[in-house]
Formats: sequence, structure tokens, C-alpha cells
Amino acid sequence: LEKVPSDIEIAVAQTPKPVTLLAEEIGIRPDELESYGKYKAKVELSILDRLKNRKNGKYVLISGITPTPLGEGKSTTTIGLAQAIGAHLNRPAFACVRQPSQGPTFGIKGGAAGGGYSQVIPMDEFNLHLTGDIHAVSAANNLLAAALDRRMFHEATQTDKQLYTRLVPTVKGVRAFAPLMFKRLQKLGITATDPNALNPDEINRFARLDIDPDTITWNRVVDTNDRFLRKIVVGKGDAEKGMERITGFDISVASECMAVLALSTDLKDMRERLGAMVVATSRRGEPVTADDIGVGGALAVLMKDAIKPNLMQTLEGTPVFVHAGPFANIAHGNSSILADRIALKLAGAAPGNVGYVLTEGGFGADMGMEKFCNIKCRVSGLYPDAVVIVATTRALKMHGGGPEVTPGKPLADTYLKEDLDILGQGLGNLCRHVENAKKFGVKVVVGVNQFASDSPAELELIRTRALEAGADAAVVSNHWALGGAGAQSLAEAVVAVCEESTDSPQFKFTYELDIPIAQKIEAIAREIYRADGIELSELAKTQVENYEKQGYGGLPICMAKTQYSFSHDPKLKGTPSGFTVPIRAVRLSAGAGFLYPLLGDMQTMPGLGTRPGFWEVGLDEETGRVVGLF
Ligand code: ADP
Repeated sequence: LEKVPSDIEIAVAQTPKPVTLLAEEIGIRPDELESYGKYKAKVELSILDRLKNRKNGKYVLISGITPTPLGEGKSTTTIGLAQAIGAHLNRPAFACVRQPSQGPTFGIKGGAAGGGYSQVIPMDEFNLHLTGDIHAVSAANNLLAAALDRRMFHEATQTDKQLYTRLVPTVKGVRAFAPLMFKRLQKLGITATDPNALNPDEINRFARLDIDPDTITWNRVVDTNDRFLRKIVVGKGDAEKGMERITGFDISVASECMAVLALSTDLKDMRERLGAMVVATSRRGEPVTADDIGVGGALAVLMKDAIKPNLMQTLEGTPVFVHAGPFANIAHGNSSILADRIALKLAGAAPGNVGYVLTEGGFGADMGMEKFCNIKCRVSGLYPDAVVIVATTRALKMHGGGPEVTPGKPLADTYLKEDLDILGQGLGNLCRHVENAKKFGVKVVVGVNQFASDSPAELELIRTRALEAGADAAVVSNHWALGGAGAQSLAEAVVAVCEESTDSPQFKFTYELDIPIAQKIEAIAREIYRADGIELSELAKTQVENYEKQGYGGLPICMAKTQYSFSHDPKLKGTPSGFTVPIRAVRLSAGAGFLYPLLGDMQTMPGLGTRPGFWEVGLDEETGRVVGLF
């Protein structure tokens, strides 16, 4: 293979077509498009109304094997397939991907626009501000944090009566509840609707949230890997004397507001979810929500544009929706339901030439696919026609006992020359992911992401074993080096598998929602991770009991675990068995609508290494172009 130029060199060498032209090509009307510059646009949600009677296109999830820290090419394959189906098979094709956080973009991992000749362009805009959605998420998250702290401040410094008269002031001689206040009255079981008719006990319960500071789960966020913000003290100003508390920052994409954005089905739904987010517990034991603090409406206002999916394009001019980027470990790591929905309707435009939507799920299939199926599909009611599992010789060799793969360090020899032994020993990892995908009742295509150093015998061995494990197809793909043309065989296999007329198996969830929380966690641990069972810490048991009492027992589960192993221990490579999964704690994302058990120490604010990616990034002084992004 010839040497492939760097990602940014390839990206800037291609001039994108105007986004207005792209929109016209795929059937988006001018009044449904809001351009942000020449090459990016938001798509109005009204398009869903116009297309509501149209059939959906085919829906394909791109997932992968247990990765190395370098990533095994899910994004690259998603884009490569969109190019192959769209530009080479001449079918409508849409990629739906997450917007990357600036944390990894300037850190070790780099951006997430794909790579080589399978990329989203303009790549720098994709990886940086895009249309400001992450900034909107940060603004909403931080408004809620400020609203929470100031509420505690005012409650500490005012009597019940003072609080009440300020919350429900008399305007022109009339005292009236704001609409949101009726929600709170209802929650407290207070029947009086006249603000003058509340008794002192009711005034106390209404006006005083009585937040227990030790129970606050809401952090501030910033979209930078800034380890020094992990733990901070707020309230050091003279006016806040005595109200200091320890808190911290998370990376913006770990904000629940981001998970809400990804799982919302329309504006009203997003508003409800934002208001329902629980930030703390009161000393009375009640969950305190954003709506209790009065800020749900304002959060929705800050995110009203973020809810519209962003349209961009691949290097070969096929459409890409970039929308939402929830953290893949503490949240569900999939792009938005709304982007998938719009893409599926657009893909269904020509019944005789049905199109494809390729949507990516973060991390390995034990994380991304499991959460896609059990959380995202459950909310959206959309089920995939097939799952593509991306595999590389590199990761499989690591699972077979190869030396550690460390970003920034040269790869060991095993990874650069043929080694069928070690590859063979690692193939179990792929087979287990294939079997797991089958458990959901979906068709499975294994996409072997070819690297320049792979030997034909190695690629063939992966294919053969994948088919033996039950994959419906297994195809080598070279889209990184060759663009869409390199993924043509994989694209043909995906189309064939989705369109072959077998009585397709019924989609199956791993668990039903109405069983106890612990049983749901156990079902994932046993069925997907192949653990012997789970062990809840005392803290986790109390939390589970509380959530069930507070009415959150019926939510799906979003496991917060390492992506580097089927188990909770990143060191257990390949196909670990005979382990019990420890559940350290269980947290609640009431607005996004899931419970997330913590299986180990989950970092929600990454750090930067000695030699982060930002060293390479700069501007070419002559052209003003960005250099060094990858
Ligand atoms: P994932 O989405 O699974 O994390 P990416 O698609 O982002 O993985 O790929 C990770 C990195 O590996 C990117 O920098 C990409 O350019 C590079 N890469 C992917 N596939 C190949 C390949 N076949 N050959 C060389 N580099 C590749």
C-alpha cells in the first residue's frame, strides 16, 4: 500500500460541496435548513412532521470488538461504509456520528472524524466548535449548578416567609404561582391553588428545598481535560462565608444534559427530561429536580438549537449527521435519536432504492451495542436491521496475549508482522461479541478493518472464525487507505444481509424494565459480560433500595465500566470468565432516564499527558488553515 497522508492533509485537500447543495440532493427543503457557514447546517425538526408517513430506510449499528487505547476504527468504518453505499453502490446513505469532545481532540486519542480517506469534512470544524452544541450543553449544565448553589445560599439566609414572598411575589396586588410551581405543589401533595391559602407547614415544604449538601450529585462542566478541576472548593468569597463545599468539574460530554440531548424524541420531551434531572436529595429524603429549582424551562431555552441535528458530509460528499456526544462510560455513548430518525426518513425516500443509515455506538459491543439496544432502541422504538462489528488484527493480537498497546509509543513487533498463533488465541474476543449481537436477535456482519501490515492469511483467519461464530457475513475492508471504494465489498455484504428475505429473528432486550434493579444489572453481567454474577456494595444496596422507593426502579441500566475488557477489570483481556462484577455504587440520571452502576473508578474528568495532541496543533500562517489535528 502506498503511504497515506495525514488525516488533516487529506481533509483539507478536498473542497466540500455547499451544504445547501447537499441538503437539496438528499431532499431537505430550504426552509428546513439553517446554515452555519458554508459547510454545516442544522436541520429543523419540522422535517419529521413532513415525512411522517414515509417508510424508514435500513438501520445499521456500527460497533466493535474490545478495543486497544488507539481505537479500532468504528468511526472510520461508519464513514467508509457511508461513502461506499452512497457513492459506489448509489444508494442513499447517511452516517450518524457523535460530536467529539475537545478533551480527547487535544489529548491522546485525537478527534473522531474517522481517518485516512474515510472522514467527515471540514474535519477541523467537526472536531472543534461545530455549531456550538457542546457549548450549549455546558451553559445549561452550569446554569443548573449556579441555580442549585444560590438556592442553598438563599435558604440559609432567609426565613420561610421571606423565601415564600420572594418566590411567589405580589404583583399589582395579586399573588400568583408561576406555572412550574404547580408541579412542585403536586409533588408535595399540597392541594391549595391559592398562594394565600397555604398553611405554615405547607409554606415551609414549598419554599424550602432543604437540600442536603452531602447528597449533591451535580457538578460543573468544561470541555477540556483539566485534571485540576476534578476536586475543588466553592464558596470561598466573603459573602458566602460558612457555605464552602467541595465539588468538582466533569468534562462537558459527561453532563446529563448531553445524555438528555441524545435521548430526546422532540422539544417537549427534552424540556420534560431537563426538568426531571435530579441534582440532590432533600433532608426529608425527596429527590430534588431541576424543575424544583425552577430552572427546567431556562435549560430547555439554552438547548433549543442544540436539539437540531447538524448536517455535514464525508470526503466523498455523502451526508453525515453529527449530533450529541454522550460520554460512553457513564452515559450511553450513542449519537442522537433525532438524527437517526431524520436520516431514516430521508433514507426511505425511494422505495425501489432503499437507503441506509449507519449509526455508531461508542466503545466495544459489550458497551456501545448493549446500551444502544437496551436504552436507545427502547426509547426510540427503532430497531437495527444489522450490526457491524469492527475488528482489527491489532486488537485481536492484544487479546491473544500481545504486549500492551500504548498511545504515543511504537507498536511491538507482533503487531507489525504475521503472527497467526497469537491472533488465533485472541479471536475468542470477536466470537463472543458476535454471539452477544445474535442474542439481541439482529443480523451480524463482521468488518475487518485492514491495516497496511496485515497479512492475507491473518485477514482470512479472522473471516473464517467470525463465520464459524455465527456472523451472517465477514468481510475485509480497506476504506482507511482507499475511501469508499475500499469498503465496497463490506457495503455489499451489509446490503445483502439487510435485504435477504429470511424470517428475521425478533429483536430481544437483555432484560425487561419491570424487574428489580439488581436483576437487571445481573442480566447484563451474565448475558453480555459472561460473569458468574454481581456483588453490590452496602452503599449500592442502599442506593438501589432508595431509587426503588422514590419510583425510579423501572429505568433501564447504563453500566459505567471500562471499555478495555468484557469484565470490570481492564487487565482481563480476551474472553474472561469466572469473575464476579463488583458494583461500587449506583447513580441516577433521572432526566436522561437511566440508572448507572459504577463498576470501578470511573473518571468523569480526564487529564492530559506529558505530550498531548495539542502540541501538534496550530495554524498555517500563509493559508490560515488548521494543521496537526488528527
Ligand atoms: P474508533 O471509532 O473505534 O475509536 P477510529 O475510527 O476513530 O476508531 O480510529 C482510531 C484511529 O485509528 C484513527 O486515528 C484512525 O485514523 C486510525 N485508523 C483507523 N483505521 C485505520 C487503518 N485501517 N489503518 C491505519 N489507521 C487507521
